[in-house]
Amino acid sequence: MQTEIITIHDPAAMSADIDRAAAVIRRGGLVVFPTETVYGLGGDATSAEAARRIYAAKGRPSDNPLIIHVADPADAGRYAHTDDLFDRLAAAFMPGPLTVIMPRRPCIPLSTTGGLETVAVRCPSHPVAHALIAAAGVPIAAPSANLSGSPSPTCAAHVIKDLSGRVDMILDGGEADIGLESTIVKLDKDQHGEYLTLLRPGGITCDALSCVCERVVIAPAVCEQLAADQRPLSPGMKYKHYAPKTPVVLLDGDGQDVLAFLQKEQAAAPCAILCYDEEIPSLRPEGLLPVGKRADLAAQAHALFGRLREADTLGASVIYAHLPPKEGLGLALYNRMIRAAAHTVKKV
Ligand code: AMP
Ligand code: MG
Repeated sequence: MQTEIITIHDPAAMSADIDRAAAVIRRGGLVVFPTETVYGLGGDATSAEAARRIYAAKGRPSDNPLIIHVADPADAGRYAHTDDLFDRLAAAFMPGPLTVIMPRRPCIPLSTTGGLETVAVRCPSHPVAHALIAAAGVPIAAPSANLSGSPSPTCAAHVIKDLSGRVDMILDGGEADIGLESTIVKLDKDQHGEYLTLLRPGGITCDALSCVCERVVIAPAVCEQLAADQRPLSPGMKYKHYAPKTPVVLLDGDGQDVLAFLQKEQAAAPCAILCYDEEIPSLRPEGLLPVGKRADLAAQAHALFGRLREADTLGASVIYAHLPPKEGLGLALYNRMIRAAAHTVKKV
């Protein structure tokens, strides 16, 4: 398949390109588009055939459901059974990096939801994503636009490397702002009332969610490794994710101890290091991949996936990185990095 790549320089002057991309979606084709989280691999969410194509292009297991993207949160009710809690979340966080799981309506086929009776709905804030969904006139099912198992793409170059020849069109809208996938919550109820189950942490933090819903329960698979016989609440959590080919080891310890360990390792053998900016002067430049200042979790989120891809090209036998804190945006970093490292944490 020939993949057409279109660079969007000015979102205000892109209507002809968007109309062509929307036509590709409507005839069942695949269009990669930028969002504020990561790039998405989009197809018509109401078409079982488009869903099949998405799974094939990514090499993704077909029981791992797709998030559907809408242009306006008010459209969610056409595809899912929304309720008052959804409306409050939408008012607070949409458009934006939040995905909400609700019971599906029949117009969303089971192929899109990986066979589940629920559907995940998100309304992205990126102007290109918004324009494409609005012009398509259908919700767009879009997983991250990477080959299954590799880090999510945060710029068009990552997408081109993974999916060139496997999709009809790629819209290049520059670097993704946040750099980590959306926060995913499920709306739940028990005898004490409503609550949210956090299935995947992202740009919307637990603290922010708590302002809208008092009870937020973090699903065990967010931080822990599930036993082989445990079923995660979100099918995607059982798959190996975000994994570079080089083994990743997360270092847990105070700043000085970690730095001393890294200096010793660098002296012994070449290694790749996702370091904080403050550490650059104390380490050798070879293999150093700065991710931002220690306290700047947003910069680290923005840099992470690109740095993991780069680290994999250095030919090192190991990639070292810091174990992130679990607070605020740190929880999203922790969730991605613990998977990239296959739960390998070294205390130093
Ligand atoms: P990605 O599309 O690559 O960002 O991954 C989407 C994530 O959302 C995967 O981990 C899916 O398992 C999860 N997901 C999508 N729909 C549902 C659903 N209906 N129930 C639970 N998890 C879902
Ligand atoms: Mg993904």
